[in-house]
Amino acid sequence: MRIFDPHIHMTSRTTDDYERMHDAGVRAVVEPAFWLGQPRTNVGSFLDYFDALLGWEPYRAAQHGIRHLCALALNPKEANDPRCAGVLDELPRYLLKESVVAVGEVGYDSMTPAEDKAFEAQLAMAAEHDLPVLVHTPHRDKAEGTRRTLDVVRGLPPERVLIDHLNEVTVGMVADSGCWMGFSIYPDTKMDPGRMVAILQEYGTERMLVNSAADWGRSDPLRTRAVGDAMRAAGYTEDDVDRVLWRNPSAFYGADPEAPVMGDDYAGNTIKRGG
Ligand SMILES: [Zn+2]
Repeated sequence: MRIFDPHIHMTSRTTDDYERMHDAGVRAVVEPAFWLGQPRTNVGSFLDYFDALLGWEPYRAAQHGIRHLCALALNPKEANDPRCAGVLDELPRYLLKESVVAVGEVGYDSMTPAEDKAFEAQLAMAAEHDLPVLVHTPHRDKAEGTRRTLDVVRGLPPERVLIDHLNEVTVGMVADSGCWMGFSIYPDTKMDPGRMVAILQEYGTERMLVNSAADWGRSDPLRTRAVGDAMRAAGYTEDDVDRVLWRNPSAFYGADPEAPVMGDDYAGNTIKRGG
């Protein structure tokens, strides 16, 4: 079983996790930029983080046979701090980099005017740079947040938009929209492997993305593998599993997960796309 985890925060994980992931079949990941828990107070703090996602983290992943790609953005939660607004001015030059395969995570946390502004600005950047977008949906008031999110992303081609952290309540409206559907499988909240299989049985395997969204909270980077195993136990073929856990994320990000890593190296040498 080969696995491409389309949403995982390896910054918060240990080297032991990389080893266990490789043993479980994980060969590629996308790490979206997110909230680190400690609020950042200035733009430079974000830039060091972005550089780590382009340099150190791919280097660390490569030691364990895993290709590390990333999505960059000003996350919805920190979009509310005016000291961080300048991140939006710095993002365009980062979006040119080879291992940046999407804009994300963007979307809503508390659905404030500041979040609206950052969300719309970053959707425009995605269109301008011809990148797909990873959209986080709020954990509180999920149905309303997802509806409002779908309204906001309507200007982009749906096949370039991933609406993430879905569940039984929100999957239907996203299926109808034509956007990609993302599911974060957590050990004891949100989706679990059994519920994920039931959703696949109802909605099919197209435009479906399964991720661990593992971060500094209670989470498990092997939940993608658990879904693959649950699919097989439910009678899905190896090819079905490969579609959901490998070919779907490769198609959404337009990335070849087996291509050699072409990011920045962690010594700080930058390799840019298109000169
Ligand atoms: Zn996340």
